[in-house]
Amino acid sequence: MYRLSCIHCGAEYAPGEIIYTCKKCGHLLTVNYDLDAISVTKKEWEQRPLSVWRYRELLPVTIKPVTLQEGGTPLYHLERLGKELGLPHLYAKHEGMNPSGSFKDRGMTVGVSMAIQLGMKSVACASTGNTSASLAVYAAKAGIPAVVLLPAGKVALGKVAQALMHGAKVIAIRDNFDVALALVRELCIKHGIYLLNSINPYRLEGQKTIGFESVDQLGEVPDRLVLPVGNAGNISAVYKGLKELETLGFIDRLPKMTGIQAAGSQPLVRAIQGNLGEVVPDEHPETVATAIRIGAPVNAEKALIAIRATGGTAASVTDEEILAMQRALAQKEGIGVEPASAASVAGIKKLVEEGAIDRDEKIVCVVTGHLLKDPETVIKQCPPPIEIDATEQALLSVLHL
Ligand SMILES: *Cc1c(COP(=O)(O)O)cnc(C)c1O
Ligand SMILES: [Zn+2]
Repeated sequence: MYRLSCIHCGAEYAPGEIIYTCKKCGHLLTVNYDLDAISVTKKEWEQRPLSVWRYRELLPVTIKPVTLQEGGTPLYHLERLGKELGLPHLYAKHEGMNPSGSFKDRGMTVGVSMAIQLGMKSVACASTGNTSASLAVYAAKAGIPAVVLLPAGKVALGKVAQALMHGAKVIAIRDNFDVALALVRELCIKHGIYLLNSINPYRLEGQKTIGFESVDQLGEVPDRLVLPVGNAGNISAVYKGLKELETLGFIDRLPKMTGIQAAGSQPLVRAIQGNLGEVVPDEHPETVATAIRIGAPVNAEKALIAIRATGGTAASVTDEEILAMQRALAQKEGIGVEPASAASVAGIKKLVEEGAIDRDEKIVCVVTGHLLKDPETVIKQCPPPIEIDATEQALLSVLHL
């Protein structure tokens, strides 16, 4: 049992209504459950496999879901990196281990299921890459058509490959993500296509399970949860979910929600650090971390609440810091992530070096997407393979043996 409600004016809408923002004031919507009516116990949840659907009582889907077994991703203790940084309780939740290689699958299993539940016949999104890959995968599983709009030339190779291979109609817009999103919103509203960007409140419901799993895997509430921020949907979703657990009495406190952006694309950081009431967009966002190359985060209003209500913070990291952390995670921990994902851990490195966080904190960094999403950025950072003649002598020689 739930309603859609506006986070600004409180207007309520029936769950069956196809609506993405408040009709009265234009602000964001959220899914409000009647938590008093939810009778599931923590024990019941623990008996189910770790996955998005373990938590189905707190999800809006009532039909058989469109699922590829998303969630249940590993939580790794970063022993080596943690030691270097002087953080004994540093963890990474590897969302690259989802079916399409990013956390977007958590949102899409719920979002595409809702499209079917609501009787919609086709789905669409604008994307910096991973949303389109994930939407293509889940639309294929559901057997419905998908349209994806990408900023031309700014999407990592692996993500375009996935969107194409899984059969979405892939359209490259000669402008940035923010413009592509405005276009696809209009398209969906005018032509009855279901919009699955993170402005869609149902999609975010799936993504909140990152927080649920983190608590279950750690066996307690982390002191800090760190996420890279693009459209700011994920950090908002995780906060919302944990608030629900708190209301249900399953947890007794919330982690400090911490958002990390790239230096060339940091409107949320400016708002937090400058204590602004709202986010002032970046006209020309630029960063190697294409997944967070977003100048006008649509979920900023929710994210500002998440960070402020939990005593969290926001910080930015340079492209060099992002790439250095991508290499460190790969080479010191065996964890392969795309650049945007490394931003969360790079942000923690920066915050701890600035003395902004307590070294005893239990910190979960969400690493959001897999290394293979963006092979070109990987290849550029690594020396090429050493090519030799097929002789033992040549082999020994390059190994200096
Ligand atoms: C989508 C995405 C993000 C940003 O998430 P938001 O919800 O837009 O803030 C970060 N990293 C990766 C890999 C992503 O795909
Ligand atoms: Zn409203």
